Formats: sequence, structure tokens, C-alpha cells
Amino acid sequence: MLSPIATSLSIVFVSLFFGTALLVAWRRFGVQFHAVFWALSFMFSAVGHGVRVFGVVWPEYQSVMAMLACQSSIGSFALLAIGFRSRANLDHRLISLLWALSAVAIVVFWSEQPFEWRMASRMMTSAADALFVGMIVFLPRHAKGLSSPVRLALAFFGLYILSVGIAAWMARPNGEIAEASFIIVLSLGTPTGMMATGILTLFILAADLAGELQKQAQYDYLSDLLNRRGFEERLASQRLASNETGFIVATDLDRFKSINDRLGHAAGDEVIRRFARHLQAAAGNHDLTGRMGGEEFALFIASSDGRDALERVERLRMGVSSLYPDIDVDNPVTASFGVVRLKPEESFHQAYARADAALYASKGAGRNTTVADLDEAA
Ligand code: GH3
Ligand code: MG
Ligand code: MG
Repeated sequence: MLSPIATSLSIVFVSLFFGTALLVAWRRFGVQFHAVFWALSFMFSAVGHGVRVFGVVWPEYQSVMAMLACQSSIGSFALLAIGFRSRANLDHRLISLLWALSAVAIVVFWSEQPFEWRMASRMMTSAADALFVGMIVFLPRHAKGLSSPVRLALAFFGLYILSVGIAAWMARPNGEIAEASFIIVLSLGTPTGMMATGILTLFILAADLAGELQKQAQYDYLSDLLNRRGFEERLASQRLASNETGFIVATDLDRFKSINDRLGHAAGDEVIRRFARHLQAAAGNHDLTGRMGGEEFALFIASSDGRDALERVERLRMGVSSLYPDIDVDNPVTASFGVVRLKPEESFHQAYARADAALYASKGAGRNTTVADLDEAA
């Protein structure tokens, strides 16, 4: 009798530990709300194993405690799956419905006992738990999903839970295996699965947080484009990965100070935002768009064809004035551009300095123009 109590108690403590850790992660590190679903999942698990201990110590309550343990187990896996779907921005109505149905079914089975209750409740619980794990494994690929090894590990866990259900059937009265064998199957994987799930959820939160911080370090808040650092890092890794050639474009809004002065800083910000979206919308898969500071932007056009690159820049330039039909109609907003070919032996800084010089030349030429220094002989 002591051994199941010890196992259950240790699972209670570990579940409480993971539940608390997930809550702390949510409160302290500003991670998203799905951490709360996961924390609740572990709290349910703690309650489930706690009531099991209660039922063993006070046998007169064993039946109702066993029913509550099944409820907690199903709730725990439902909440785990809800957390995963919420992380992927998917709705969880289906899971909630299945959870409610299985909760009602467990209560009906428990009060009516149409089948041998113990076996039936164990089978239902493992079927529902495995179903919820399956719903995590089969999260759509397009959603913010899981890596294949994680899916595989969870699929194994789901199969294990199913095998618990099969063992429950085989351990029915006069069944193929003894009750003790069922307990062995149950205790083989339950603590391991729980620990693995706890580590997995915390790991996913940490990885998401790291990704978010990396994004914040590389992106500009106002324009949502890469910042100078992000632009340089992305370009460097693209050049490293594929020896990519292309063009560096420097562009700067014309007489922007006067826009700020006449219309205010907030309108100036809106002009910057729309200009950024305009640049981004024209960017191809391998192109890069970054805000280098103030109202100055950089583009990398991944093309080896100078004429094509210039045509694209000209289209960009001519599209600028139509971005602001509602802002200052009398003084159309324009931008100047400088374009250079990024030479293989040259650093980004060298190329950008040349692009900036070309941009400066186009300012000198009266603004709203493009100056190209394509160095076609190179
Ligand atoms: P030019 O045609 O020669 O580029 O003239 P300009 O007025 O655009 O010249 P300059 O580049 O010197 O002016 C940039 C101004 O942009 C100065 C600064 O107050 C303003 N600015 C920089 N960052 C921001 C920002 O984030 N929001 C707003 N609203 N204004 C900004
Ligand atoms: Mg300017
Ligand atoms: Mg400027």
C-alpha cells in the first residue's frame, strides 16, 4: 500500500513544482497566456494524484476519489492541449467540448455503473487523455507548431497512454492480466511522461522567449522593419549561406523635418510607417528591408540584374507620393534613392557608404530621384 502512495505523492510534488514554475514564467517573464493553461494542467495533475492518496488512506471515500482522479487526469490533458492550441493561436472549442462530454460520461458511468466501473473509467480516461495528446501531435503544420522530434516524442507518449487503456481492459475481472500488472504498466510511464511534459512546456516557453528577444533586438518598433543590427546580421547570414549577390539601396524621405514641423511628430511617425510598409510590400523573398535610423532606410535587392533592380527602385520611388492621400495634399511626400551593386569582396559597411553617397548625390540633384553607381565593369 505504501508504494502507490509514495508514487502518487511524488507526482503531486513534481506537478506542483511544474505548475508553479509555469505560473512564475507567466508572471515574471511576460510570456503568453498559454503558460497559465499549462500551469493549470499540472495543478489538475497534482489534484488527481492527491485524491488518489486520499482514497487509499480513507478507503470509505475511495470510489468518489477514483472518479475525481479520472476527472483530474482528463482535465489535465485537456488543458495541456488547450495550451498548445492557444500558443498556436487556434481556437479550443472542440477540446473544451470533448472535455465536457468526457467529464459528464465519467460521472454517469460512476453513478450508473453499467460496466465494471474501475475498468471502464480507466479505459475512458486513457482514451480521452490519448485523444488530447493526439490533438497536440496533429496540430496543423502551418500554425506555430512543434518540431518533428517533439511531435514524435508526444506521439510515443500518446501511444503509451493508449496502452494503459488496453492494460485496463486486460486487467478486468477474470481478464488476461492481474490488477498488479496493470499498476506496473501505469507506473512505468506516468511519472516519466509527466516530467517530460513539464520540461517540454518550460523549454518551449524559454525558446519562445529567446525567439521574441532576438526579434526585438533585430526589429525596429515603429516601422516593424529590421533595424540596422538586424539588417546587417540577416544580410551577413544570407551572404554566408548562398554567396548571394545583389544591390544595396539607401533611401531617405525628402524634407522630412518640414513634415514634422508643419504636421507634428505623430503625423511624421505615420509617414515613416507607411513608407516602411511600401518598401516591405515590394520586397521579394530574399530581399531585405531595414530602417537605419530616423527616416533613412536600406534595401537589399537580391538580383544580379542591374536593370531589373533599378526598375524596381524607380517603381518604389514613383509610388511614394500616392501613399499619403490624407496627409498634406499640397506638398506631396517624396523620397530620394541611392543604389549600388554589392561587390563580393566588399563589406556591407563599404557598400552602404557608397549607397549613402549616391543618395546624397540624388539629394543634391534636387531630390525625388534615384542615383545609381552600378559599377557594371566589376
Ligand atoms: P532631406 O531631404 O535632406 O533628407 O531633409 P530632411 O528634412 O529629411 O533632413 P534630415 O534627414 O536631417 O531630417 C530628419 C528629421 O527626421 C529630423 C528628425 O527630427 C526627424 N526624425 C527622426 N526620427 C524620427 C521619428 O522616429 N519620428 C519622427 N516623427 N521624426 C523623426
Ligand atoms: Mg530626409
Ligand atoms: Mg535623414
